[in-house]
Amino acid sequence: MFKSYDELQRYCQENQIQMIDFRMIALTGEIKHLTIPVSRLSPKIFEEGIGFDGSNYGYTKVEKSDMVFIPDITSAFKDPFWDVPTLSMIGDVFAISETKEPFEHDPRYIAKKAEDYLKESGIADANMISPEFEFYVFDNIAYQYEAHDIKLKLDAENAYWRRGNELYPNLGYQNRKHGGYHAAPPLDTLHNLRSEMVIELEKAGIQVKYHHHEVGGPGQLEIELEFDTPRQMADTSLLLKYILKNVAVRNGKTLTFMPKPIFGEAGNGMHVHMYLLKDGQNIFYDPEGYEGLSEIAFYYMGGILKHAKALMGFTNPSTNSYKRLVPGYEAPVSICFATSNRSSVIRIPGYVKDPAKKRFEFRPSDATCNPYLAFAALLMAGIDGIINKIDPRKEGYGPYNINIFELSPEERAKIGALPASLDEALDCLETDHEFLTRGGVMSESFIENWIAKKREEARAVNTRPHPYEFELYYSF
Ligand code: GLN
Ligand code: MG
Ligand code: MG
Ligand code: MG
Repeated sequence: MFKSYDELQRYCQENQIQMIDFRMIALTGEIKHLTIPVSRLSPKIFEEGIGFDGSNYGYTKVEKSDMVFIPDITSAFKDPFWDVPTLSMIGDVFAISETKEPFEHDPRYIAKKAEDYLKESGIADANMISPEFEFYVFDNIAYQYEAHDIKLKLDAENAYWRRGNELYPNLGYQNRKHGGYHAAPPLDTLHNLRSEMVIELEKAGIQVKYHHHEVGGPGQLEIELEFDTPRQMADTSLLLKYILKNVAVRNGKTLTFMPKPIFGEAGNGMHVHMYLLKDGQNIFYDPEGYEGLSEIAFYYMGGILKHAKALMGFTNPSTNSYKRLVPGYEAPVSICFATSNRSSVIRIPGYVKDPAKKRFEFRPSDATCNPYLAFAALLMAGIDGIINKIDPRKEGYGPYNINIFELSPEERAKIGALPASLDEALDCLETDHEFLTRGGVMSESFIENWIAKKREEARAVNTRPHPYEFELYYSF
């Protein structure tokens, strides 16, 4: 939005901006924020920054160094959710010791280092990516009680209305379960909400490809974005999640990107489409190649397939991620590639004929990832594939243009399977991460800290009794 401090200052004056909001990114990818009155705005903030305690952000404690946040002026946008006119920015984290240096654990810096490594390798000038965001919208019952004094509450499965402890059968119209893909109104009751979300995204400078109802629900929605570079797209991803969640709340709803919020319904993925640009050309395109993809594209894909299990430690870093990756819901389960097959880790969308957009999609990822780390890790795996000329066709990764879910267990066993749990993915990351450390992109200490933090999460979930355990074991 702004290129210089003067432009920023002029905007603040002309638009009566009263607060400047700074957003810092925690290790997990969650946004935190800190606000100053506009009277405190000065060029110094963009040089010296604002100090904060990095240990509450999940970062390792770095001996003798304070964390400093320096806002990135180019990321500024007017926040639509506050009454007081507020301008928000994300930024970078620096470690202050003798000198000021970029903090090596800062996810935004890691994404930048991965981009620099790609350029220095001479392979390409830019990695272009486009994520698809799936999410479920739910009624915010607490909000409705408060705002409209609604005494009735819809019970699970829409089967009953509940008043206090009494249940009344719901004899009225009920939306169809499942099969919501591209549903039209009245089945799609959330079209207005989605449109409102997309308008806010566009106002914040985000380019939306399209939006639609998804398979699950009713209530599972999807918004896809246009292509951008990894660090920029990670900034955009966090902003998108922020805007969507707040538009939902503004409408008395709540939403979740949790990979598998409802048992028996489709999960929420965040598929990532990708290609490489060199001298303005998409080097994944080759009219003579299989499905219009070049050798470079296949090597890049080979790197991602080879490191798929380790990558999951970053692209699917929650315990819930693995409840989505099961057969039968168009979520991937097998480490292979295919053209139009949705059970594979990599899919080459057959409908893309435009040479400028020739690409493939990585399907496992979900939006509980820290997008800076997930995008950087995918890029590093792809570069490894190119450096080592890993051809997925020679390594037995496909193409598998069949429905893998319909294969017999023996046949399916021949195709590698994705990790079945967060712990398993972290085990794989522990043994396979040299490709991530090249060019100083991720340090050993960063990866160690990440694994330790995520193991704590897995342990916290695994040591708690599960509701379904009561169904199974209570009456033993
Ligand atoms: N929801 C599916 C997943 O979990 C994807 C479905 C689709 O986009 N067709 O990946
Ligand atoms: Mg989609
Ligand atoms: Mg989808
Ligand atoms: Mg997709």
